[in-house]
Amino acid sequence: MLNLHEMFASLQGEGPHTGRPAFFIRLAGCVAPLCPWCDTKGAWEDGTEVSVENLLDAVKDSGHRFVVITGGEPLRQWDAGLCELDTALAERGIAVQYETSGKVPVPEGIRGEVILSPKYLDGSWHVDRKSVARAGHLKFVASEETLPVIDAFVADHALEKERVWLMPLGMTRDDQIENMPVVWDHCVKMGYRMASRLHILAFDT
Ligand code: SF4
Repeated sequence: MLNLHEMFASLQGEGPHTGRPAFFIRLAGCVAPLCPWCDTKGAWEDGTEVSVENLLDAVKDSGHRFVVITGGEPLRQWDAGLCELDTALAERGIAVQYETSGKVPVPEGIRGEVILSPKYLDGSWHVDRKSVARAGHLKFVASEETLPVIDAFVADHALEKERVWLMPLGMTRDDQIENMPVVWDHCVKMGYRMASRLHILAFDT
């Protein structure tokens, strides 16, 4: 059984699949250290127990062929049923994208695409090194102040630049727009990719 916070259909708001219609499965619970700026604090609490079969039915009923599995930290539930869901969705030809912090290891053999958002807390990155290697892309919320720390991470892990996505910091439309030029210029300089956080631009929330 998996512990679920919520399911809904929407557009992917950030990262490499920005703007793509998707069915979201948000699993409950995260792992320490928790991020003070977290915008999904509601998902820290226990949710509802659901079976893999019920989740597969929900995906089928949604009609979507692209599923985003997020949290909280979804990969903490790998052995509780997520591995089974990963296999079942792949066998049905449904594209899957995981949103993970990398605070728990990305499982070897995972079939969905892994998008890793490393978290910098109290002066260090809380990410498993093997997870960085297994991720398809890595995305960072960036501002002028955080760019040096992100560059150091990229150098430390010898990341290919086309795997790195920067998104302007800002929990409001105005804040995000204010951070856009500096992030744009830095992506041009470093060869990173850039994405907006489209849901904030659209809804200011
Ligand atoms: Fe929130 Fe993600 Fe940090 Fe967990 S890892 S506390 S879900 S921002």
